[in-house]
Amino acid sequence: MQYYESMIDLVGNTPLVKLTRVSAGIEATVLAKVEYFNPGGSVKDRIAVRMIEAAEKSGELQPGGTIVEPTSGNTGVGLAMVAQQKGYKCIFVCPDKVSTDKINVLRAYGAEVVVCPTAVDPEHPDSYYNVSDRLVRETPGAWKPDQYSNPNNPLSHYHSTGPELWQQTEGRITHFVTGVGTGGTISGTGRYLKEASEGHVKVIGADPEGSVYSGGSGRPYLVEGVGEDFWPTAYDAAIPDEIVAVSDKDSFQMTRRLAKEEGLLVGGSCGMAVVAALRVAERLGPEDTVVVLLPDSGRGYMSKIFNDEWLASYGFLEEEEPTARVADVL
Ligand code: PMP
Repeated sequence: MQYYESMIDLVGNTPLVKLTRVSAGIEATVLAKVEYFNPGGSVKDRIAVRMIEAAEKSGELQPGGTIVEPTSGNTGVGLAMVAQQKGYKCIFVCPDKVSTDKINVLRAYGAEVVVCPTAVDPEHPDSYYNVSDRLVRETPGAWKPDQYSNPNNPLSHYHSTGPELWQQTEGRITHFVTGVGTGGTISGTGRYLKEASEGHVKVIGADPEGSVYSGGSGRPYLVEGVGEDFWPTAYDAAIPDEIVAVSDKDSFQMTRRLAKEEGLLVGGSCGMAVVAALRVAERLGPEDTVVVLLPDSGRGYMSKIFNDEWLASYGFLEEEEPTARVADVL
C-alpha cells in the first residue's frame, strides 16, 4: 500500500514549474518553486517541522506542552498542523485587524486564538506583545518558537529548500529570488546554494517598497508576509547579493497575471517575488536559470487582491496588463 504516516511527511519536496507567459521575451529560464503544495499550504510548514523537532530534542518542548506564538498567518497554520499530529496544544496571539477568516483557519486546526486590540501602545498590558509574553510565563509547559530569532527557521531551508533546488535544477540554478519577511528563507536557502555552487549562485531578495531590507523606514505597504520595520536575527545580511524593492501595485498586478496566465493562484508576496525575478532575468542570457520561490496560495486573499473593488479602492485596478483584461472579457 502506498501511503504516508502523517501529513508531516508531506512537508517539502515541492515542484518547480516554468513560467512562460509572464516571462515572454526573456532569454533566461525562469522557474517557480510552488510552496502551496505543502500540506498546510505554505512554505512555513518547513520551519514548523524543524522548530518543533529541535525543541523536542533540546527538551524545551515536553510531551503535552503548549506552543505559544504571536502569529496569524502561515506560520500559525504550519505550527498548528504539526503540533496536533504530535500531541501539543497551540495558542496563537494576533491583533484584532486580522481577518476572521484567518483566525477561523487556525481554530479549524484546533488551535486557540487570543485576539488583542490593535489600538493600544506596545507597553499596554493588553498589547499583542505583552499578552503573548504573559501567556508564555503563565502557561505550564509553554514554549515560544519565535520565528524571527529561531535559528531553526533558516536552518530548515538550509536542510530542505536549498538541497531540493540544487537537485531539481541539477546544479544549473544561477539566480535565486525570494521575498524577505523573517529572512529565514533567503538566509538558509541562499547559504546552501552559495556553498553548493562555490559562490556562483546569486541570491536576490524581493522587498516591499518602504521596508527596511530595501532601505526604507518600515512605512506601511499592503503586501502581506514580507518586509519588516526591524532587523530580525533570522536574517543574515551577508547572503543576499541584491535587494529589489517592488511596489504594492506591481506586486498585485503580477499576482493576478500569475493566476490568469500561468494557472498559479498564489499570494501577493509571490507576485512581488516574480516582479523582482523578471527584473533580474531581463539582464540575463539563455544559459541562466532563475528560480523564484512562491510562498503561499491565493485562496487566503480572495477578498483583497482578487477582489476588483478592493484593488480599485487603492487605484491598482485600471492599469492591469492588457492580456489579463482580454481574459476578463472572455
Ligand atoms: N510570503 C509570505 C506570504 C509569508 O508568509 C512569508 C513569511 N513571513 C514570506 C513571504 C517570507 O518568508 P521568510 O519569513 O522566510 O522571510
